[in-house]
Amino acid sequence: MRVLLINPNTYRFPPVPPIGLEHVAAEVEEAGHEAKMLDLCFYDSPLKDIDEAVAEFGPDIAGISVRNVDTVLFQTNEFFLDDIRNIVRHVREKYGLAVIIGGAGVAADPEGILDYLGADYAVAGPAEGAINELLEDIVCCGNADRIRYRRYRYDLQCPRKTGGVEYERYMRQGGIGGFDTHKGCSSSCVYCIEANTRVSFKKIDDVLAEIRMLADQGCSRFHLCDSEFNEDLDYSIDFCNALKREGPGIDWALYMKPANYNKKLFRLMKESGVSLITLTADSWKKCPLYWTDIEKIVFSARSSGLKIVVDFLCGFPYEDEETLRFYLDLFRRVQPDSVGINPYIRLYRKLQITDIIFRDEALKRNLIGYREDGNLVRPVFYNQLSVERLRVLIAGEPIFRIEGPERGVNYSRQ
Ligand code: SF4
Repeated sequence: MRVLLINPNTYRFPPVPPIGLEHVAAEVEEAGHEAKMLDLCFYDSPLKDIDEAVAEFGPDIAGISVRNVDTVLFQTNEFFLDDIRNIVRHVREKYGLAVIIGGAGVAADPEGILDYLGADYAVAGPAEGAINELLEDIVCCGNADRIRYRRYRYDLQCPRKTGGVEYERYMRQGGIGGFDTHKGCSSSCVYCIEANTRVSFKKIDDVLAEIRMLADQGCSRFHLCDSEFNEDLDYSIDFCNALKREGPGIDWALYMKPANYNKKLFRLMKESGVSLITLTADSWKKCPLYWTDIEKIVFSARSSGLKIVVDFLCGFPYEDEETLRFYLDLFRRVQPDSVGINPYIRLYRKLQITDIIFRDEALKRNLIGYREDGNLVRPVFYNQLSVERLRVLIAGEPIFRIEGPERGVNYSRQ
C-alpha cells in the first residue's frame, strides 16, 4: 500500500517536528508498505501541496496527524480542527482516499474528534504497534474498526524515518529536535488525558540512535517529548548515564512530575546536558507529601546547577483562596526560576474533572464555551479564579507569570 502521511500542523510558536508521523512512516515501511511524508508546517497553501503530492506519489490511503486539538490555553486559544477537517474533506472528496487520523490530540476524545473531522478511521494513542494491523484489516477484510486503540508492549521498538521533514528549517525558525523514552503515565491527575495510561519504555540504545540521527542533521538542542521524564527512577538514571557516556553531546529540556527522583538523578541530568526542567504541578487536593516532593525537587535541581520552572494549574472546584495563597507562598519560599500559573482548566469528555464538574450545577456556572450538547471537542474551560484576582495575589512578583496572554513554551523563553 502507498501511504501518504500528512502533518497539517502549521502552528509555529515554536514549530514542532512531527515525530509521531516519523515513527509511523518507518513502521509502515517495515511492514512492506511505501510511505511518503508531507510536512505542511511551513507552507501556506496546504491543499495545493497535497494535490502535488498525490499527483506525484499516487497514494492508496492517507494518514493525518492531530498533534493537538487546540492550544489548551484560554487566552490566545487557537482551535486546529477546522483546518484539519478541510484537509480531510479535500483528500476524501477529490481523491476518494480513506483517511486515518492519529496523534496525541486524538486520545483526548477519539469518537468525538473522528466525527468532527469526518475521517474514516482513528488510532487512539501512539500508532506504533497498531497502524500495520489497521492497514491489514482495511486491505484484507474491508471491515476494520473505526477506532483502533493502542497496544502496549514492553521494550517498545519504534523505528523512525525523518525523510520529508526539513530539520534545518525547523532549527532556523526556533524549533528544536524531539525524542521520547516511553509512552504512558502511571499518575492520575484528574485533568490530564495521559492519566493512568499503561507505560511502555523504549530501549535506551534505540533512543540514543534517534538522537544521533538528528544530531547528524544539525540538531544540537532537544526537547524530550515524554509527558514526564521521571516515570521510573531506575530507567531515568540509566538513560542519563548512557546519554552522558555515548550520546553526541546535546542540550536538552524535559518535563518532570513531583515523584521518582534522587540527588543522583539531578547530577546525571546536569552531566548529560539538561538545560531546563519544567515541573508539572497543580493545586488539586493531594497528600501533603506531594508538596514536600515539589520543594525537594526545586532545591535539588537548583543545587545541581539546573534551571527549573514550574507549570502550575490552579482554580479547581471547591478550592478556596487560602489554599492557593499557601501554595503561592511555598513557591515564594523555594524560589524556582519561574512559575507559570494557569487558572483555566481545559475539559475533555473523558476526564475525571469533567465528571466532577458536570455533577454539580453550581460548578457548571463557571464553564466558558460550553454548549448543552455535551460535546467538548471545541474548547470548553472551567474557570473560577479571575485573572484580575490572580494578579492581586501574585502582587507583581517577578517569579510569577500568568499563562495564556503570550504564546510560546518554556524552552523558547530561555
Ligand atoms: S503526571 Fe503529567 S502526564 Fe502524568 S497524569 Fe499528571 S499531568 Fe498527566
